Amino acid sequence: MHDETRIVHSGREPERFDGVVNPPVLHASTILARNLAEWEERKRRRAQDLPGTYYGMLGTATTRSLEQALAELEGAHRAVVYPSGLAACVVPILAFVAAGDHVLVTDSVYGPTRRFCEHTLARLGVETTFYDPLAAGAIEALMRPATRVVFVESPGSLTFEVQDVPAIAAAARRHGATVIMDNTWATPLHFRPLAHGVDVSVQAVTKYVGGHSDLILGAAAATEAAWPRLRSATYELGQCAGPDDVYLAQRGLRTMHVRLARQWETGVGLAQWLARRPEVERVLHPGLPGDPGHALWKRDFTGGCGLFGVALKPVAPRALEAFFDGLRLFGIGASWGGYESLIMPVDLAGLRSATRWPLAGPLVRVHAGLEAPEDLRADLEAAFERMRAAGA
Ligand SMILES: *Cc1c(COP(=O)(O)O)cnc(C)c1O
Repeated sequence: MHDETRIVHSGREPERFDGVVNPPVLHASTILARNLAEWEERKRRRAQDLPGTYYGMLGTATTRSLEQALAELEGAHRAVVYPSGLAACVVPILAFVAAGDHVLVTDSVYGPTRRFCEHTLARLGVETTFYDPLAAGAIEALMRPATRVVFVESPGSLTFEVQDVPAIAAAARRHGATVIMDNTWATPLHFRPLAHGVDVSVQAVTKYVGGHSDLILGAAAATEAAWPRLRSATYELGQCAGPDDVYLAQRGLRTMHVRLARQWETGVGLAQWLARRPEVERVLHPGLPGDPGHALWKRDFTGGCGLFGVALKPVAPRALEAFFDGLRLFGIGASWGGYESLIMPVDLAGLRSATRWPLAGPLVRVHAGLEAPEDLRADLEAAFERMRAAGA
């Protein structure tokens, strides 16, 4: 079956719910048993991790619908949802470490994941080494006997370096470390982590699965070997996503492939146009043939999303302000993956320790939405005009 077909049909069971197409939103804490035998049977099935509904905190048919669909899409044994994308990044790390252990984390990791390693993991006696995202198999030199987790994110947050995930995963495997990947950018539609040697694939469902800027949710999908530890850490840490957000996410999932294809195309078009602008030093987009990550991206990915970076040539602060202020279509805001275009200045301060960002000018992150590409380009063209006028 093709992904487009799978995404439409997986995880839905209309026959269970009077033929209703979408799974219902079940608000639940208590799940009643009809009699003692059913109570005991549920207890037995829960202990064996068999499908079913046991207690609201462990999810209901609403939750299972999304988890089932995501597990199928990822080619995973099982998937589990989290109340945020960040929770989906950090709980899997916690699942595989103990005091005295060591983890390797890409220097281009999502900022809040970095801070979790620097603060919480450090406090628990787990040491983090941040590594060059371009290190590929050379991370082997950083592996220690206590290295339990190798965390990858490709392309990297804010700077979009493409990692050699198969080479990193092979090195990790030789040392018995678990590989966790933040795959939010490509989504399982355009990069399949588990097929490239990753043990746990995580994504911020907030972004493209949600797709409408109205929910916060995360998910992790695991191999059969990684699942038991992931499952127990998830439940022991009380991770439970609300049914309304889960419902919205499963609804968003059904159209994700169409939105992604369009946003990818618009993003590539804008990136190509920006690369020719005199104000631009470099565009950070693995889909462009000139990008340093292009060859790896072409080898491993089947596409991507509408998010990329733009390094501008140095400008005066008031010229940059003129660029942003007056934008009519691009919203200035964090997060991405919704249907609307966004733009944001990027500050790498405190976010890189193993590598040094080489460019001096301001860095900007662009998210292409579903608007007409010509209108978006006109909005940016006017911004460059204001910037030029203010800088003169
Ligand atoms: C947004 C994001 C997250 C966190 O998702 P939230 O739902 O906002 O917590 C994690 N990783 C990446 C790469 C992200 O862009």
